[in-house]
Amino acid sequence: MTASAIRLLPEQANVAVVVFGGTFDPVHLGHLRAIGALRDALNAERVVWLPAGEPPHRPAPVANAAHRLAMLKLALADEPQFLIDTRELDRPGPSYTVLSLGELKAAYPDQPLCLALGLDAALDLPKWHRWQEILILAGIAVMQRPGWSLPEPLPSWWLRAQLDPHDPVPESGGWIRVIDIPPVDVAAADIRTDIANGRPIETKVPTAVARYIEEHELYGENTRA
Ligand code: ATP
Repeated sequence: MTASAIRLLPEQANVAVVVFGGTFDPVHLGHLRAIGALRDALNAERVVWLPAGEPPHRPAPVANAAHRLAMLKLALADEPQFLIDTRELDRPGPSYTVLSLGELKAAYPDQPLCLALGLDAALDLPKWHRWQEILILAGIAVMQRPGWSLPEPLPSWWLRAQLDPHDPVPESGGWIRVIDIPPVDVAAADIRTDIANGRPIETKVPTAVARYIEEHELYGENTRA
């Protein structure tokens, strides 16, 4: 778990790096399809997946970090544009996104960062640790998610940062935009419930991930991995 995949990024300036954090408990086709569509829409070179160790804003993950990372590696094995950065698993304490973005910015000052958030997570942003700094360090690309809609009126912080629909995505941080991608109705919590109730999950996770979950008996009834 020591290899930090961000080191694999090309050194040239102005590569659009999309940072995608989450518990990935487990990684599923909603993550993969939504972020793939977002990468294409933004024409981004790389997506850096940032699995959280101890997520500060939500209950602890069910599967341990080693299992979640193993599943992520299986899911991303055939996707050269998708990299895994393990800094939040390696760093003790709460997995604050602001710290990770600050480290990435310091290491790669010429690479504009874009943080990808599902709409549920984006609406929650003001509850995050030092959230205003997150909005300075990176632009925020929001993925629609079935079950969530934009509130009316939009919060004032959102309106201030929102890009005009026709404006190009700037190379600095400080912006937010909802990216028009097909919504994918898959959620990790539903998958965990399905498994605990003996329902199939093959249509919701990559085959290798389904096999891993079965082999390691993750998320079964009374199982806390
Ligand atoms: P849980 O159900 O355990 O809360 P989750 O499916 O929301 O998990 P996370 O790993 O917490 O998955 O999500 C990481 C990021 O991916 C968040 O920004 C979340 O909003 C986003 N995301 C998750 N599922 C989808 C989806 N189906 N479509 C778009 N974004 C998603």
